[in-house]
Amino acid sequence: MRLSRYFLPVLKETPAEAQIVSHRLMLRAGMIKQSSAGIYSWLPLGYRVLRRIEQIVHEEQQRAGHIPMLMPTLQPADLWKESGRYDAYGPEMLRIRDRQDRDMLYGPTNEEMITDIFRSHVSSYKDLPLTLYHIQWKFRDEMRPRFGVMRGREFLMKDGYNFDLTKEDALHAYNRHLVSYLRSYERMGLQAIPMRADGGPIGGDYTHEFLVLAETGESEVFYDAEVADLSFGDRDIDYDDVADCQGILEEFTSRYARTDETHDEAVFAQVPEERRRSARGIEVGQIFYFGTKYSEPLGATVQGPDGKPVPVHMGSHGIGVSRLLGAIIEASHDDKGIIWPEGVTPFNVGIVNLKQGDVATDSACEGLYRALAAQGLSALYDDRKERAGAKFATMDLIGLPWRITVGPRGLGNGVVELTSRRTGESEEMSAEAAVARVKDIYAAHL
Ligand code: ATP
Ligand code: MG
Repeated sequence: MRLSRYFLPVLKETPAEAQIVSHRLMLRAGMIKQSSAGIYSWLPLGYRVLRRIEQIVHEEQQRAGHIPMLMPTLQPADLWKESGRYDAYGPEMLRIRDRQDRDMLYGPTNEEMITDIFRSHVSSYKDLPLTLYHIQWKFRDEMRPRFGVMRGREFLMKDGYNFDLTKEDALHAYNRHLVSYLRSYERMGLQAIPMRADGGPIGGDYTHEFLVLAETGESEVFYDAEVADLSFGDRDIDYDDVADCQGILEEFTSRYARTDETHDEAVFAQVPEERRRSARGIEVGQIFYFGTKYSEPLGATVQGPDGKPVPVHMGSHGIGVSRLLGAIIEASHDDKGIIWPEGVTPFNVGIVNLKQGDVATDSACEGLYRALAAQGLSALYDDRKERAGAKFATMDLIGLPWRITVGPRGLGNGVVELTSRRTGESEEMSAEAAVARVKDIYAAHL
């Protein structure tokens, strides 16, 4: 993308309404624009990151054997009356009436709808196990929408639902979700710690929230410092291997790590004092096993092996896709701007032309831009007639992890400069070498 033809409305001033750094940076970098409280337009740069995050979530869910689909945002109230949640959900639910006077609502989550789909089409235990998911906009009329996309009213969520014949099978589905979430967050450059949580209105005894540690997080958390040293890494996982998935659950959840809702001082006191930590965290996902809580009232039963109808065991599993942009920025920025992890960056590399209009420099930049594209790498080429300082400031603000700087002096020596946004370190090399290096860096993130 050539910046001269792109739409990147960066702001010079720091927006007064934004209280936390991720919100400020998303506004300043021209990623989002508020439309009304807690509702945002995703401008091109923000939209690119949102799509990257979605892509990672899709890939990791499908790797785990979960099946993508798409349900509507608007739901009939009748389904929620059947489950008993229509009244229970309270004022967070946006209720709408259509022209036929039917009660509708903008879905805050989809347990009812997916269970309805299930009961309409699945009748035998032979069709199990089954896990369906979608990535769809949700609406919750939050009392205090704030912090930009972190606590929106309209927000994008991945929500997945497993249907199993037995509790054991459903717990395996739970474990698969835990593993696939660990992988997803790590690919986004994040450490998200699974912590024992509270079921809330969705209900259930087995539930973990995934928290990214950050001072601006809304949750208070307590944990054993050892959990912060765990990482999934690039180990292979067979999602059909029940013992393997269970082993990973145990590895990541056996140490103390809880949100304030489930925090227990007496149990925490058993952690050696030097390892006890209390901190704040951002909830970026949650997994639940809730048994037959929805399948019973909604009549989602299958014919079991003995021919008798049994209600299915279910769980639901959510990732806060749009909130993740804020969480990643909270975890990865400096005073100049955002520092995108390679896994989610909107463009792989930025090209800065130090002397726009100079024939040799322009043509070197064009060549570089084409060579990167030929390798399947996306570049944002700053081809504006601007001072070098202004170009660097824009690149630093929008946070592309790698920048290639091209100017007449370097070209005279046959080199361009490759700079890491994270470390600030630069290295001179030929344009071909720079392309090869960037290609290698991203090969590790595919
Ligand atoms: P919270 O406690 O933050 O209100 P929740 O526990 O009600 O969230 P879930 O039902 O578990 O939310 O939804 C799954 C994920 O969706 C959450 O882990 C979070 O990352 C994201 N999410 C929930 N509410 C919002 C919101 N208002 N804005 C953005 N993301 C949200
Ligand atoms: Mg939650």
